[in-house]
Amino acid sequence: MKRLKTAIDAVVEEIAKTDARGTPSQAVPALAGADTGQFGIAVHTCEGETVSGAAADTPFTIQSISKVFSLTLALEAHGDDVWTRVGREPSGDPFNSIVDLERHEGIPRNPFINAGALVVIDMLLGKNAGKASHDSVRAFLEARIGADAIGIDDDVANEEQSSGFVNRALANLAKSFDNLDNEVETVMKAYVEQCALTLSCEGLARAGAYLMSDRADQHSDSVAEARRARRINALMLTCGQYDGSGEFAYRVGLPAKSGVGGGILAIVPNEAAIAVWSPGLDDNGNSLLGTRALELLAEKMDWSVFGSI
Ligand code: GLN
Repeated sequence: MKRLKTAIDAVVEEIAKTDARGTPSQAVPALAGADTGQFGIAVHTCEGETVSGAAADTPFTIQSISKVFSLTLALEAHGDDVWTRVGREPSGDPFNSIVDLERHEGIPRNPFINAGALVVIDMLLGKNAGKASHDSVRAFLEARIGADAIGIDDDVANEEQSSGFVNRALANLAKSFDNLDNEVETVMKAYVEQCALTLSCEGLARAGAYLMSDRADQHSDSVAEARRARRINALMLTCGQYDGSGEFAYRVGLPAKSGVGGGILAIVPNEAAIAVWSPGLDDNGNSLLGTRALELLAEKMDWSVFGSI
């Protein structure tokens, strides 16, 4: 644990000295003015401890990181049937791209682009709710880390609700191909709400701990859950950073999911769940300093799914 704390402190120090900080998401006014000097990091270990640095308890909107949790619920409820409605391939396009959806006749390329997340959420609503352990991402997170660790940013939710033209277009296009059962507005509401949930790095690292698939973890005590976690990790590695996923795998070597709020959840299988946050984004909409911090921490801890050095 001491080695981890030393590594985290060194990462915090290096990040503070980094000049390039990226640009906050301009799509949502409530995010656009964020201070790119903000940075937080937390690591939840398989021993159940959380080690953190910098602004690890500052809440931020989890945005697309929520897509990991809704996918988990959809897989619980529907098993492999999920894959009849959404693919498992990287899109090579931006997260809100619409062209692929037409090309693939309403089947989104993967569950982590916006089109895919909308279809996954549709699978959790109304008569499709099925056997998911919880009826929303918020309820799923509350069960893992407690209601007090979770908030919602109403400004972000309201702005994304009123300005979500492209997301509505994606939902409508999926519906035109018969790949959305519920009303577009019903799906939009659930999508916007889960994107606007707020967690701190400490909360996010704890919330993502089930993806370590360490079966000693109290929340992952079944083989089925461990198998599901492994598959979600595969998708995070290949699709989690949109069209920056290849570069991210090369630099960091860990499955991860980003959000335009500046958060990233990364998983070291059987070892740790890492959450980083800094609101400045790179050209693909992934946190610039967050990615750099993960690269540094993975190097210092010799963490990679591609083997140790
Ligand atoms: N709420 C954002 C959107 O719909 C989520 C995108 C993201 O985090 N990449 O565009």
